[in-house]
Amino acid sequence: MIHYQLCCDVDHEFDGWFKDSDNFERQAARKLIGCPVCASTKIRRALMAPGIRKKGAAAVVEAEPAAPAPQVPQISSRRSGGVMPDQVRSALLKLRAEVEKNCDYVGPDFAEEARRIHNGEAQPRGIYGESTEADAEALADDGIEIAQIPWLPRADS
Ligand SMILES: [Zn+2]
Repeated sequence: MIHYQLCCDVDHEFDGWFKDSDNFERQAARKLIGCPVCASTKIRRALMAPGIRKKGAAAVVEAEPAAPAPQVPQISSRRSGGVMPDQVRSALLKLRAEVEKNCDYVGPDFAEEARRIHNGEAQPRGIYGESTEADAEALADDGIEIAQIPWLPRADS
């Protein structure tokens, strides 16, 4: 069975079921199909209105504003402010003692001396001293490894 949307000559629309399209054509030609409203036998297939998308029907989905990145707490030993476990404190004091014992103190010339050692212009040795953040970054950029350690005052000072 096939379904046709039909209409008569005055545009009454109605449904018709037929065995096949030939069956419909024959019945229509023989005026066997009557409009249920006005009994007209001048029947034709209604044009099936295609689905028409209304203009502007396309949904515009506003992008959700990106969620703010989760705040990662900044951890810095310099800003940890006085609260330092004794274990850490003693380890750092031990480290300081080791450094003082095995390395040359070069003071504020640290960056310059580290660079000289790196370039083979000074005797390779461990050194320690003061450097600024900028110095440390410049050294790192040049592939010179340095360690920045919290420098605790001696326990006996
Ligand atoms: Zn009719």
